[in-house]
Amino acid sequence: MSTVESAPSAVRDLGHFIGGRQVPGTDPKNGGRHGNVYNPSSGALSGRAPLASKAQTEHAIADAAAAFPGWANTSPLTRARVMFRFKDLVEKHIDELARIVAGEHGKVISDAKGSIQRGLEVVEFACGIPHLLKGEYSDSVSAGIDVYSMRQPLGVCAGITPFNFPAMVPMWMFPMAIACGNTFVLKPSEKDPSCGLRLAELMMEAGAPPGVLNVVNGDKEAVDTLLGDPRVQAVSFVGSTPIAKYVFATASLNGKRVQSMGGAKNHMIVMPDADLDAAAEALMGAAYGSAGERCMAISVAVPVGEKTSNELMETMKPMVRNLKVGASTDPTSEMGPLVTREHLEKVRGYIHQGTLEGAELLVDGREFSLREHPEGFFIGGTLFDRVSPAMRIYKEEIFGPVLSVVRARSFEEALALPNEHEFGNGVAIFTRNGDVARNFANKVQCGMVGINVPIPVPLSFHSFGGWKNSMFGDMNQHGPEGVRFYTRVKTVTARWREGVNPGPQFGMPLHR
Ligand code: NAD
Repeated sequence: MSTVESAPSAVRDLGHFIGGRQVPGTDPKNGGRHGNVYNPSSGALSGRAPLASKAQTEHAIADAAAAFPGWANTSPLTRARVMFRFKDLVEKHIDELARIVAGEHGKVISDAKGSIQRGLEVVEFACGIPHLLKGEYSDSVSAGIDVYSMRQPLGVCAGITPFNFPAMVPMWMFPMAIACGNTFVLKPSEKDPSCGLRLAELMMEAGAPPGVLNVVNGDKEAVDTLLGDPRVQAVSFVGSTPIAKYVFATASLNGKRVQSMGGAKNHMIVMPDADLDAAAEALMGAAYGSAGERCMAISVAVPVGEKTSNELMETMKPMVRNLKVGASTDPTSEMGPLVTREHLEKVRGYIHQGTLEGAELLVDGREFSLREHPEGFFIGGTLFDRVSPAMRIYKEEIFGPVLSVVRARSFEEALALPNEHEFGNGVAIFTRNGDVARNFANKVQCGMVGINVPIPVPLSFHSFGGWKNSMFGDMNQHGPEGVRFYTRVKTVTARWREGVNPGPQFGMPLHR
């Protein structure tokens, strides 16, 4: 029986959220441009997302700029209370939000809920903003002189987010920015734009004044407007590496603060002493969960030694074949469809490429189709053995349910693989040996490391970010780095000592 919820006839026209309300979408002066939104499980058109013009994006920036002075002047406790109410509202509406995510992205409901939960953890962290913004004070640094530092908000901040986490990635950004006293313009992915709009409505209901959180749906035109507008002080970007580099370069050139997260190719090393059943199970979730459309998905497994490799493949082959692929709203599905037909074709193309390059295709996901939904964007789990580092399927990010296995002869050979790869987002090692694990954690050239943990996404009170071509900028998402990113330091040196006039001082001011 079909479990896909939205009927093909229910095509919704989406808008933007500016100045505290939904506003109509396309700009007739700009040719009324829009993008199509699909339900990946049925393949049916479900919505039309407006692609904002420069003028519409500037309207959102203007509203955010107008709201900034008032919002920056609210007390941190007031802002924390808005965050507490927002947290309650997201929890109350989590089923609805998960259905929106599953309906436009395609991830299964349980996974969609989990991703919202991870976003909520950042909101919980942002609830502690009065403590996080406490400054530093040095008493009597010189005769009658005290020095104190405070962190102040920047102004209008922009967030540009990818399709694969339509709730979580925006929630990495705007709760932190807004709790710090900034106002925000979010530009979600045009592939799944509805979640951002709903989150903005909930922020208003939580008590954020109009203009504090705005959402413009759009594409390059909206992004370029945000990158160029002098009123925008900081840009947070998450998406593919070529666009991350472009956003970093353009916004930096325009004098903005930028954190720009890019693509990934995450390795999991399996040492001969590892619990192989646990490693295989971890690989199943990490490679095929969310159909591999996670920047922290494991896309390369590196078993060390022939025996480990053979045993791991024998264990995994039937598991990949038996993966339950189905509609995102089917509670029995372990993996849903890919986001669009275009992306499905891209992933199929990579599998073809792997066969041409000589990798051994143990399980071919292209053979999968779902009888109830022949038009859905489905593909089965795919497993390639004997992949070599020279192959494109190893070098490039596929962003689908395709696991490549590169067999290594030693720990050193295994360690060299992530270290020499252009990306450096996440990495994991499975072993029972503490020395090996510690050595690995010290030497590996990646930003987030898992030891017997396949997807080491840091909790919200730590910061998230990769190395090398997975991250451009210095300050990571959420946690202490998030607070630093969305604030700047002001240091005040004050003399309060009655009756003391030091007279003219022409030399360098020195401590006495
Ligand atoms: P994408 O780069 O295509 O799009 C990301 C955002 O950039 C979207 O909002 C999109 O509208 C905008 N954009 C696209 N083309 C643009 C252009 N030419 N100029 C200006 N803006 C443009 O990425 P995607 O396909 O939506 O998301 C998948 C990618 O995101 C993968 O590479 C994945 O690894 C990456 N990702 C990285 C992280 C991380 O933290 N490192 C997290 C999630 C996703």
